[in-house]
Amino acid sequence: TSAIKVTLSDLEKYTNKSFPLCMKFLYDTLKENHHLKYGSRIQLGNFFKTIGLTLEESLELWKTEFTRKITETTFEKKYTYFLKHMYGTVGSKRPYQPATCYNIINVVLSAEETHGCPFKTWDSLHMTRKLQQCRIPSCGIDDIEDVINNMQYEKACAKHFQFIHKQTNPPEINSPFDYFKESLMVLKQ
Ligand code: SF4
Repeated sequence: TSAIKVTLSDLEKYTNKSFPLCMKFLYDTLKENHHLKYGSRIQLGNFFKTIGLTLEESLELWKTEFTRKITETTFEKKYTYFLKHMYGTVGSKRPYQPATCYNIINVVLSAEETHGCPFKTWDSLHMTRKLQQCRIPSCGIDDIEDVINNMQYEKACAKHFQFIHKQTNPPEINSPFDYFKESLMVLKQ
């Protein structure tokens, strides 16, 4: 998809500012719980693949987190197939395409699942708190919430980007990778 190639050893430096909220939240949850449910694993795992992690790096990353709670054998048995499938080395052997916001926004969530697009799924109180944690000024938060109320989730995400990166205008966001790519461009300046 681009020349961007993140490696496992420098992943951390991108997670805070360059991950869109949907991925930042899943990444933080993975670090905190050392586990993610299936839908979340697919959403975050595919994003890691899109930004350039190799299958080996992805296996390493998920193994490091999951084996804080389960044994390596259980990890190998239960949790490596989804990654291999995603990279196209087993099963249908068709690597997954990068997800679009449209896919993520319209995903059907069952109880207790935490993936999807936060701009759609989080209630207003939770969203306000998270935006405050990102140090978005209250006028910005009001602005973002107006857009959310109009169900324009990508636009809300673009405004979130705009405030975080202190830009005059919001970028065009159609996928988590767009957010990431735009962020790298701004941070390089
Ligand atoms: Fe992620 Fe797209 Fe939602 Fe932004 S609009 S949080 S990139 S799904």
